[in-house]
Parts: sequence; C-alpha cells; structure tokens
Amino acid sequence: MARPLHAAIGERPILCLMCGNNTFREREVKLNSTGMEFFNMAWANESATGLICWSCGHVHLFVNRDLRTYRQKREH
Ligand SMILES: [Zn+2]
Repeated sequence: MARPLHAAIGERPILCLMCGNNTFREREVKLNSTGMEFFNMAWANESATGLICWSCGHVHLFVNRDLRTYRQKREH
C-alpha cells in the first residue's frame, strides 16, 4: 500500500504547486522510456523522481540528488 510521503530538497520542504498540499506519492520516472523522447537531452539516461500530490494528483518531476522523501512524522 502506498502511503503519503513528505518531500524536501535540502531543508526546503516541497509543497504542491497547485494546492499547497505537502504529502505525495513517489514514482521513479525513466527519462529514456517510451513517450519521453521529446526531452531529447544529454541526460536522457537518467531517471527522475515523480512526486504525485496526494490531494490533487499534480505531478512534480525532479532530477535532483538532494531530493529526499520521508514518512509522515507525528506533530510535535
Ligand atoms: Zn496538489
């Protein structure tokens, strides 16, 4: 079962660009897979991390080694 994840780049938490939600589903996206050829870039063999907003479904695509995801923590 997929569970909501939080995501951050460094110390900066990622919020959905559309609705401001802060929980996501994570999915690896191969940039050289069928349907992605239009990128036609030198880094085409890399994979990206897709973060799918848990609330509205908007997909955020990252190629960033500093991106990390983590399980929801309890409120302090
Ligand atoms: Zn959203």
